[in-house]
Amino acid sequence: MSEVFAAMELGGTKTVVALGDASGAVLEEHRFPTTTPEETLGVALEWWRERAAFQKVGIASFGPIRLDRTREDFGTFLTTPKLAWQQFSLVRFFQDRLPGVSIVLDTDVQAALLAEMDRGAARGMSDAFYVTVGTGIGAGVCCGGNLVHGTLHPEMGHLLVRRHPHDDFAGVCPYHGDCWEGLASGPAIEKRWGKPAHLLAADHAAWDMQAWYLAQGLYAACTMVSPQCLILGGGVSQAAGLHAKVSALLDACSAGYVEEIGARLVAPALGQQAGIIGALLLAANR
Ligand code: ADP
Ligand code: ZN
Repeated sequence: MSEVFAAMELGGTKTVVALGDASGAVLEEHRFPTTTPEETLGVALEWWRERAAFQKVGIASFGPIRLDRTREDFGTFLTTPKLAWQQFSLVRFFQDRLPGVSIVLDTDVQAALLAEMDRGAARGMSDAFYVTVGTGIGAGVCCGGNLVHGTLHPEMGHLLVRRHPHDDFAGVCPYHGDCWEGLASGPAIEKRWGKPAHLLAADHAAWDMQAWYLAQGLYAACTMVSPQCLILGGGVSQAAGLHAKVSALLDACSAGYVEEIGARLVAPALGQQAGIIGALLLAANR
């Protein structure tokens, strides 16, 4: 029988746990709401233990979280508005309860990017960028086949972007106000226009402005890491016609400088499954 791996995608509102094989195929999965750290991780632990013996767990988590294995605070959440999780050590929780089991950790977006590169929209590529626009803006970066971490992990949601000429909205980021996430996340759209993004009609002025901001951030990503493709996902990216608008504005931002930039924009292929498949691939070291 082939080896079974445990995986978890830990999100701000929901958590997914799964068991799977080395190819990243999910054998069984379970979704439940994210609550306190002890309760949420306790549910995960029990679910895995009831079903299988395993030697490796892959975790795709929200951030910011310390990913440097050489640091004492590896696997600890840093400054997050989710106060119950701040300074909580995800890795220590599992190490104490699963002796001998290795834990492989990365961010939810980096794991989703890994899955999209393995079998999705960026299949066969070595250089790819993934951004998810939902409750926040999160980005994953892969260069030369390696997920980029640096001293922490990419934090492109907090990139500073050029303002749309008709936008005087202060922004919603508690740290910076009008950073990328502060101007273009789901909560920013809702506060600026007085209605949640999914209730704004396709011809609402919000979408030209939204496309402007998404193109700004994606253009910055392209100039920095020159990826083969730009994957734009998350709830907000599902707005009708938005991809086409962003693609056209990417070409406008570039003004002919970065080659075929608009054509590099793609939708994710794995949808909701990307995070948990990525977590399994982390465990299987793929
Ligand atoms: P999370 O970031 O919590 O995982 P999502 O990626 O589902 O959540 O994003 C939630 C945001 O996406 C909300 O702001 C919601 O209004 C917006 N959204 C969801 N569906 C659509 C849609 N079809 N068109 C535009 N916005 C949408
Ligand atoms: Zn910010």
